[in-house]
Parts: sequence; C-alpha cells; structure tokens
Amino acid sequence: MARRRQLYEGKAKILFEGPEPGTLVQYFKDDATAFNAQKKGTITGKGVLNNRISEFLMTKLAEINVPTHFIRRLNMREQLIKEVEIIPIEVVVRNIAAGSIAQRLGIPEGTRLPRSIVEYYYKNDQLGDPMVAEEHITAFGWANPPDMDDIVHLTLRINDFLTGLFLGVGITLVDFKLEFGRLFENDEMRIVLADEISPDNCRLWDSKTNEKMDKDRFRRDLGKIEEAYQEVARRLGILPEAGSRDMKGPETMQ
Ligand code: UDP
Repeated sequence: MARRRQLYEGKAKILFEGPEPGTLVQYFKDDATAFNAQKKGTITGKGVLNNRISEFLMTKLAEINVPTHFIRRLNMREQLIKEVEIIPIEVVVRNIAAGSIAQRLGIPEGTRLPRSIVEYYYKNDQLGDPMVAEEHITAFGWANPPDMDDIVHLTLRINDFLTGLFLGVGITLVDFKLEFGRLFENDEMRIVLADEISPDNCRLWDSKTNEKMDKDRFRRDLGKIEEAYQEVARRLGILPEAGSRDMKGPETMQ
C-alpha cells in the first residue's frame, strides 16, 4: 500500500490524508507531554488503548445523537475520521475541583463543584493555551454565537452522558477537555465533536478509592500509568482478555 501523506503531527497523534476526500486517518502515538510540553515521555501501549477507548466513547455518543468526526477504527493505532475545520478552542468541563481550577481559585482538590462548570482555552502552544471568555471567542471570530450555543449544548449533554457511563463502571468523571470542528456536508455546516476522549484528556478517579486512572499519573509521577489506562478499558468492557473477538460490554459495578 502506498504510504499515506502526513498532514499534521501533534503531541499525541498524527493526522494522515484519508483514503477518500473528506476523510483523514488519525494515528495514536505512545508519546505523552504535560505542562505545555515541558515534560515529555512515552507510555508503552497508550496509543492502542486511547484509540480503543475513544472509539468506544465516540460510538456511544453517536448512539445518543451527538455528532462526531469518528467513522471507524482501522487497526490498533489508527481510526478513520471525517475531515473537519477545528475550532481553536479547548472546552473544559469540570464536575469536581482538580488541576488548574484547584490551584487558581484555591479550592481543595476533590471538592464537588456547585454545578458543572464549562471553561474555554485558546488553543495556542506559544501562549500556553490561555483561558478565554466567550466574549473573546466571538469577538475574534474563532466561533460565532450560534456555534457557541451548539458547543455548550453538546458539551453539557456529553458531560451528563459520560458521567453516568463512567459511574456505572465505578469511575468518577472529574473533568475533561473536548474539541469541536465544523463539518461541511451537502452545502451545510454542522458543529461536531472532534479529537479524542481518553484518559489523556479526562480526569478519571476510582469511585471508591479516588485513585487516579488518567494522565495525572504521568504529570505527577505516580507510576503504573499504562496499568491505569488498561483498567479504564477493562472496566468499560473493551479490553480483549482472550483475543480481540472477546470484547464484552461495560461491566456494571455495585
Ligand atoms: N486538558 C487537556 N489538554 C490540555 C489541558 C487540559 O486534555 O491542554 C484536560 C486535562 O486532562 C483535564 C482537564 O482538561 O482533564 C482540565 O485540565 P486543567 O485545566 O486542570 O489543566 P492541567 O493544569 O491539569 O493541565
């Protein structure tokens, strides 16, 4: 097979030209970065797990009519996606205080927030992804008010759905980051969920012990990173235990 043309290389993924116009191939690497790429490392097997976890979550979201860029998984590290125009905003949803909000506002990590909070960050590595308000987003034209209505609406639905899905397998969804894109199809534009949803961009705590099962294990040198990602996949019922045909559904916890 001819080698695919590489279009973009990010910190954890590479995008290649897809087999048909309007499609791309998203390749998941084992590379990990934190603190705006000041800390770098490799987590063996991370790409394979994130590819599978993101496939599972995006498919579940599509089932409740959340539009996504995901088409299908191609192999262990690659998935076929629809080409979208990425909106340069990271949308963060928080249910429990952790990470930057805990630091910035002096809220002890683990405090349940009075309600889910949505924040926006401007995607710009040179500036260190600064936090911005909706005012900046619409004033600078990164997205217009109707786009923002769709983004907030989708984000809150995704949060409700994923909170329940993870709770069912004994995991607390503390916070996570989403990215959205514009999909142009038949002379119409739709806002769709893009990028990935995985332990790289979620905070996932064991519901009973509050043990961290996400990238904070890498950020804070807690060890057992791959094991934690694997445990997330296992609880979701998507870790092949006796070969890839043997994938069960989610495992309900008492
Ligand atoms: N996050 C992300 N990419 C970023 C920044 C944050 O995926 O560039 C995720 C992070 O994994 C966490 C949530 O967004 O689940 C909130 O992150 P926070 O603002 O606390 O940032 P931190 O300082 O921990 O990176």
